[in-house]
Amino acid sequence: MQRRPSIAVRVGPVLVGGDAPIVVQSMTNTDTADVAGTVAQVADLARAGSELVRLTVNTESAAQAVPAIREALDRLGIGVPLIGDFHFNGHRLLTDYPECAQALAKYRINPGNVGRGEKRDSQFATLVEIACRYDRAVRIGVNWGSLDQDLVVRLMDANARSPEPQDAEAVMREALVVSALESARRAEELGLGRNRIVLSCKMSGVQDLISVYRTLAGRCDYALHLGLTEAGMGSKGIVASTAALAVLLQEGIGDTIRISLTPEPGEGRTREVLVAQEILQTMGLRAFAPMVTACPGCGRTTSATFQHLAKDIQAHLRAQMPHWRERYPGVESMQVAVMGCVVNGPGESKHANIGISLPGTGENPSAPVYVDGDKVATLRGEDIALQFTRMVDDYVRGHYGRPDPGVSP
Ligand code: SF4
Repeated sequence: MQRRPSIAVRVGPVLVGGDAPIVVQSMTNTDTADVAGTVAQVADLARAGSELVRLTVNTESAAQAVPAIREALDRLGIGVPLIGDFHFNGHRLLTDYPECAQALAKYRINPGNVGRGEKRDSQFATLVEIACRYDRAVRIGVNWGSLDQDLVVRLMDANARSPEPQDAEAVMREALVVSALESARRAEELGLGRNRIVLSCKMSGVQDLISVYRTLAGRCDYALHLGLTEAGMGSKGIVASTAALAVLLQEGIGDTIRISLTPEPGEGRTREVLVAQEILQTMGLRAFAPMVTACPGCGRTTSATFQHLAKDIQAHLRAQMPHWRERYPGVESMQVAVMGCVVNGPGESKHANIGISLPGTGENPSAPVYVDGDKVATLRGEDIALQFTRMVDDYVRGHYGRPDPGVSP
């Protein structure tokens, strides 16, 4: 698959676009003025693998909190770049709180929410001039729900005069693209380098998003931030985001992604990071953590043993990754298979780095284990899960990196 050529943008130490890997980002939902709460959530997101974290900067107290959040994260050894999300008053907050402007690695500007009427141009210019002053990247992030209405009217009028007018939805999609490109051009006229600009045009409909990004990608070489906005909750949000992003990523479109999931009440925020990683990893675009191949189960598996084992192994692999990532480079590409019976179990296990085929109903209560295609052991007893986990750990220790002697993985 060929990536669409784009201009690389540096966001703190992270590169977005060009030849850089597709970057996973996320956004906090804490009150940014709550320094402790925001630091804790950014730390969670970063530890889960978010490579950029955006936070809303909507009030003076939020702007005042940003440098303290940055310092606290640095003290924790968490260097993840922070992105400020600005609407309506960003020009004033960044002017009045220069330490906030410096603490952020990128500013997100929504052209539809920069200001109204005559103020819009001057406020947009202020934001861009501050980005130039501090050499910061800017995402010009157009959103379906807050589209520049003056632009919509202009395009609708032009469409009405056209000999072959398009339907209103098509004009709206065009308005998103034009808003992003005209704003980017204006930012460049104000002195912002092309290598400091990222564009996005977010919508909540899968087909709309695909259509808009195809158009946008065909008209520019700016780095693109990809995401379905207001994706929703639970499986609907995951499926809709995956459906939209997979099509575009397969076409080489997209340099950084964010999955806008609505958390369940009381749920943490890191799920959106895991989903983003899993989209990229299952498509073969990046590797973040060993993946477990597990069969769905059927009438041959009347116990839940293999479901528990698949779940426990996946959780074990995830839990070990912060430690393994440093000690065992390459482990993120490892494949583990957990299969429910002899029908596909041995075959799938042989394709994995390490795999186990559990006994199905009525089968001999033993579980063959395959390593790099060869059967190496047959596990029996009540603690098959524990035995297999140890074999996975041994595999990691033996195949990736050079761990210190005597240190268990
Ligand atoms: S591997 Fe066995 S248990 Fe799993 S789905 Fe296939 S037939 Fe069913």
